[in-house]
Formats: sequence, C-alpha cells, structure tokens
Amino acid sequence: MVAIDRDYRESWVATDRHAGHDVWTCNENDGQIHGTIVGVHLESCIGCMKCQDVCPVDVFIAFEYDNSAVVDPVREKTCIFCLACEVACPTEAIAVQSSMGSDDTLNALLG
Ligand code: SF4
Ligand code: SF4
Repeated sequence: MVAIDRDYRESWVATDRHAGHDVWTCNENDGQIHGTIVGVHLESCIGCMKCQDVCPVDVFIAFEYDNSAVVDPVREKTCIFCLACEVACPTEAIAVQSSMGSDDTLNALLG
C-alpha cells in the first residue's frame, strides 16, 4: 500500500472525468486519483469511511472500484480545507489541495 503522491497535480495527468471531478493517472500500475481539490488515491484507500465520518461538509461517498470499497470525493467543491480527512485517513490516501487554503489554514492556526 503506497500513500498518495502529494505532487500528483503537477506530475500526473487528468485523463478522465467522473462524477463531476477529474480522474488523474500516471503510470499504468499507479492507479487512479479522483479529485483535484480533494484527491483520493483509490489504490491506497481501504474503504474505512473515517474520512466521511469526520468531514463536516460530506465531501465523500462510498464507491466501488475494481471490486473494492473506496471513497469518491464527489462534493470536493464544498471542502473547507479543515484537513480532518487527511488526519483521519490511516493509509494517507487523501491530499487536500494546499494552494486552495490548507497551508494558509495551517499557518493561520499556527500563527
Ligand atoms: S479537508 Fe475537511 S472539509 Fe475538506 S474534504 Fe477533508 S474533512 Fe472535508
Ligand atoms: S479514511 Fe482513507 S482509507 Fe479510509 S475511506 Fe477515507 S480515503 Fe479511504
């Protein structure tokens, strides 16, 4: 199990669309990342639903991919960049877009 490539928005390519968000791919064996504001690496996800439990704005829904239970960030546009999902995820499958606010949010909290 590998963690999500946190630089995927620069190093992967948005090759498809699904449920209103981009689907990113890289090499054939690296699988798919769904979402641009909130990225979920489907191969890293174990479908534990902890992200959905902590998300205050219901970004995630359960999704079946390659016969496995995962989540899909179907409401990524509602994200408020609280990072609760990243903290809760046991497999580091999620990367919230830092340029949209997470670093700013962290800096604001730390400052
Ligand atoms: S950062 Fe917060 S609001 Fe955004 S998807 Fe994660 S838990 Fe939900
Ligand atoms: S917390 Fe992580 S492993 Fe669990 S369902 Fe969400 S993305 Fe998948």
